[in-house]
Amino acid sequence: MTELPERRLLLVHAHPDDESINNGATMAAYAADGARVTLVTCTLGERGEVIPPGLAHLSGAALGQYRLGELTAAMRALGVDDFRLLGGPGRYCDSGMMGLPDNDDPDCFWQADVDEAAGHLVEVIREVRPQVLITYDENGGYGHPDHIQAHRVAMRAVELAADAGLPIAKVYWNRVPRTVGEQAFARLQDALPELPFTKTAVLDDVPGVVADERITTVVDGTAHTAAKTAAMAAHATQIEVSGEYFVLSNELAQPVFTTEYYELVRGQGGRTAPETDLFAGIEEAR
Ligand SMILES: [Zn+2]
Repeated sequence: MTELPERRLLLVHAHPDDESINNGATMAAYAADGARVTLVTCTLGERGEVIPPGLAHLSGAALGQYRLGELTAAMRALGVDDFRLLGGPGRYCDSGMMGLPDNDDPDCFWQADVDEAAGHLVEVIREVRPQVLITYDENGGYGHPDHIQAHRVAMRAVELAADAGLPIAKVYWNRVPRTVGEQAFARLQDALPELPFTKTAVLDDVPGVVADERITTVVDGTAHTAAKTAAMAAHATQIEVSGEYFVLSNELAQPVFTTEYYELVRGQGGRTAPETDLFAGIEEAR
């Protein structure tokens, strides 16, 4: 059996592109620093809206396959070589936006049995033995059914793993502190005339925004800005990047956050507050 690296980080996401938008700088930083970074993506995003007109013919399983290629390119940009689809590629399909008939598709992730899906994740946990897991809050950051389900499955897998003698020391949810978000959107307003975008999103469109006091952990990934923006750009069906700004298919500009923020929801934090290392306080990770 090969020996595991000392620090092992597991991220659980809904669709290809969520990892790069939310955690691209963190993933690049820890991978560059020798930690094992493992991404589990729950669906292939088969119901995503496609931005480039030349790729607009892609939908369903063909879009999923294409997005797997984009994910592969994004992981290359971040220096991450361990990425998997929950239960294998195509096991769970994209559920579409909340309230659409797509949500009733028996193969979609929203209809998945949470314990069964969590069981697939426990198998990854058994192999990788992460000390740290990152996922979304109970609203999935912004209410998309696959993001809510990813949260449920990840948190259930944490419980099942602990019951199986595979405890995960620290669990984090993705966050953006409100004042940081406000400042970033103010800079975006100033930059907009120079950008190829015409309108901006608003801060409430950004997943995981909370009061600053809830932030426990700040990962300064500014040294990995180029890797993060390259990874986001690799998801070209979903994201258009310009400098440190981007749009999704709604064409509303948003800032790229290269310092990434977290709320510790399980486990003990490090001695300083906020922490600057996801592994702070984990003895065996030293
Ligand atoms: Zn998503």
